[in-house]
Amino acid sequence: MKRPLIAGNWKMNLSRTESIVLAAAVAQEAPRWPAVQVALCPPAVYLDVVSQVLRNSPVTLGGQNAHWETSGAFTGEVSPSMLVDLGCVFVILGHSERRQHFGETDEVINRKVKAALAAGLRPIVCVGETLSQRESGKTWEVVRSQVERSLANLSAEEMLQVVLAYEPVWAIGTGHVATPQQAEEVHAQIRQLIQEHHGPQVAQSLVIQYGGSVKPDNAASLLSQPNVDGALVGGASLKAQDFLKIIAAADGTVET
Ligand code: PEP
Repeated sequence: MKRPLIAGNWKMNLSRTESIVLAAAVAQEAPRWPAVQVALCPPAVYLDVVSQVLRNSPVTLGGQNAHWETSGAFTGEVSPSMLVDLGCVFVILGHSERRQHFGETDEVINRKVKAALAAGLRPIVCVGETLSQRESGKTWEVVRSQVERSLANLSAEEMLQVVLAYEPVWAIGTGHVATPQQAEEVHAQIRQLIQEHHGPQVAQSLVIQYGGSVKPDNAASLLSQPNVDGALVGGASLKAQDFLKIIAAADGTVET
């Protein structure tokens, strides 16, 4: 049975001490909801210390980005194998902030996805339309192209390791959350697309997270949609109580 995945994207926030305190609070409480898979994605410089806090905990660790090479002259970059070395299971790739501020294209993201998979990481690949793209009726055209290009030339076996995060850009950090119906519509289309490329088994196993202003008060309605298998949480993952309420909401949607 597919476990919902709730991942916290801390972005470029918190101090070392705050990271330890937050990770410890999540690690302590998260085992109350074993049906939910939980991941924390702290800034790269705190991965090591958070990894130590999460030792002996079911909460997993993820990076927020990785390069496509294993090593070499790439000043300031972090390789997938380095993330593995620190205990990472996941890596967020293609977040809209990286697409927008760092010029990441679907082709670059595709290289990173392949490198992450080769290193044994599970990539959380982000896709989503801007407000103007939605308002001009191009949501599916944009999302479809992002999914197809960022995940180009992956085998079915590799696809089983991939997590997709549908994150409408207009909903990220804005407080303007997608309605459950808006999220479900795109998630169902993504699953159908994956089915066309990789067959029903891969499509059904695929975890498709929703991201964009997920909060304790809207999590349950989003997560109860049939094709919403988890959440990628930014702002609300920085407060232990809010993040834990979202995990609890995910648990409430798991059929027993
Ligand atoms: C994100 O950064 O992936 C995100 C969804 O942020 P927020 O929850 O703050 O909108």
